Amino acid sequence: MKAKTHLSIGFIGAGSMGLPMLKNLISSGYSVTVYDINTGVTNRLEKDKIRTVNNLRAIANNDFIISMLPDTPDVLGVFNRETGINQFLKPGTIVIEMSTISSSSSIEIGKELQKSQIEFLDAPVSGGVKGAIEANLSIMVGGKKDTFNKSLNILNCMGKNIIYAGKLGMGQTFKMCNQIMVATHIQSMCEAFALCKSKGGDLKLLKDTLVGGAANSWMLENLGDLVIDKNDKAGFRIDLQLKDLRLASEAAFETGVSLPGLALVQSLYLQSRAYKEGKNGNQSLFKTYDRMTNQK
Ligand code: NAD
Repeated sequence: MKAKTHLSIGFIGAGSMGLPMLKNLISSGYSVTVYDINTGVTNRLEKDKIRTVNNLRAIANNDFIISMLPDTPDVLGVFNRETGINQFLKPGTIVIEMSTISSSSSIEIGKELQKSQIEFLDAPVSGGVKGAIEANLSIMVGGKKDTFNKSLNILNCMGKNIIYAGKLGMGQTFKMCNQIMVATHIQSMCEAFALCKSKGGDLKLLKDTLVGGAANSWMLENLGDLVIDKNDKAGFRIDLQLKDLRLASEAAFETGVSLPGLALVQSLYLQSRAYKEGKNGNQSLFKTYDRMTNQK
């Protein structure tokens, strides 16, 4: 449904996630202008009649700025005090930073922008490309409650489960907790399947049995069959999973909490990458288990 709005959005980063998200904003009635560093991306958007610009200055004059970029250094570059978009943003602009990056960097960027009366939310997402296309992402938001309330209509165009997580940086902290559980659930599924296989058990039957009981998980339901069929197709890639586990480890170092499960699963995913499986979907951790248990 088209929103009755005159609000404009500058969208930075039209990749696997950003592109479907910005398309949902356009179909909801928002006026969206896009900047992406890759001109191949912006040329394709222009062909689809989506407005693009070729520098950060040209995108700064919007009511909202949304960014969906790969990693912390990319976001720090875009929101750099001296060379980034900051110098061009007008007071009252709301920045919604939706990439998965370090919570401490989010806090740093948010505090810097607030000095110039620019409002900031850290709002990473969960739900993958499918969730982005279907506009049912989970969005975990940190920042001022008032800024969150002003941004809700926009967030609702991209997601279904919009959670106010708390103060600045708390969206990213929630996302890291999410990623620890995603990875350890996959790891425990691969481990259970490895034992069952070693005993000659029926993996399909095991999966159907576990789905009905206390061991069920989103990973078992959605990725279990891919593991059994040895399908390593990319959804959420091993490389991205490792990036998120690295961010979670950095956060654990910052507060000094011991998270042994995180250390273990990070090490297993590093093995996958060492075998050049970084572009595979994160369920392909089963290959590491096949190697460790000498099974096919
Ligand atoms: P992607 O690599 O597909 O897209 C990133 C886009 O940003 C690219 O088009 C790239 O050209 C552009 N870009 C890079 N640096 C830029 C810069 N300095 N200025 C402007 N544009 C720039 O990545 P993605 O899969 O869309 O992921 C984006 C973020 O969302 C990541 O932080 C990722 O961890 C997170 N995320 C991804 C998924 C997923 O399933 N892919 C799910 C949840 C969260």
